Amino acid sequence: MTERRLLLATGNPGKVREIRRALEGLTPGGRRLGVVGLPDVLPGLAHAERGRTFEENARSKSLFYSRRWPGLTLAEDSGLEIDALGGAPGVRSARFSAPRPSDEKNNRKVLRLLERVPAAARKARFVCVMVLAERGRIVAEFRGEVRGRLERAPRGASGFGYDPLFYYPPLRRTFAELAPALKNRVSHRGRAAAKLRRFLEAKKKAPSGGRPDRASALTSAQSRRPR
Ligand code: IMP
Repeated sequence: MTERRLLLATGNPGKVREIRRALEGLTPGGRRLGVVGLPDVLPGLAHAERGRTFEENARSKSLFYSRRWPGLTLAEDSGLEIDALGGAPGVRSARFSAPRPSDEKNNRKVLRLLERVPAAARKARFVCVMVLAERGRIVAEFRGEVRGRLERAPRGASGFGYDPLFYYPPLRRTFAELAPALKNRVSHRGRAAAKLRRFLEAKKKAPSGGRPDRASALTSAQSRRPR
């Protein structure tokens, strides 16, 4: 069986692990799908995130790398939106504790800002937007979300980012307490990836540019929503 290579346009190893796992075993158009990361094929090529929404960032990343890579390119942007902070950190999730941000510092900052916020008001959601592009054209877009609430102290050692603070009521665990496969099943990224997977499986032949897929493209209203 020949292989079709999909470029995953992210340098975040936590995301690469999760998306690889979610796409395992896919054979769109009868060809095995190999997932390669940026460091494997385009090392050192960086693209700054300047968008105001997850959609803007994922689109610009996907288009940027798809102009430099001959096959399918998948970019995603994701983050945490906290109700009590008006949706922050949102697109600034990775750099919330800038300068020199880290997961640990980001989590500490969230805990500090929510110090006086009672349990009932500590609601938050993770959002993930994935954009699939090929040779400078958007093929399709997928969005996944998951709601939960924020703990008062980190719990669990799995995952990355805000996982130790994000409590998911249906499983009564933080995301960092879930086995990776279980997190993938319920997470924002897992949900977006499941839509992507169904899209790729449904393709009789490989997508080859053209207009974005209408069924899964986001509405313009969604994509313009301010953060
Ligand atoms: P970016 O998409 O690389 O700009 O960064 C997204 C940031 O959002 C990550 O660095 C994390 O801080 C946070 N984030 C996104 N998805 C997750 C997740 O599944 N678990 C925990 N944190 C996440």
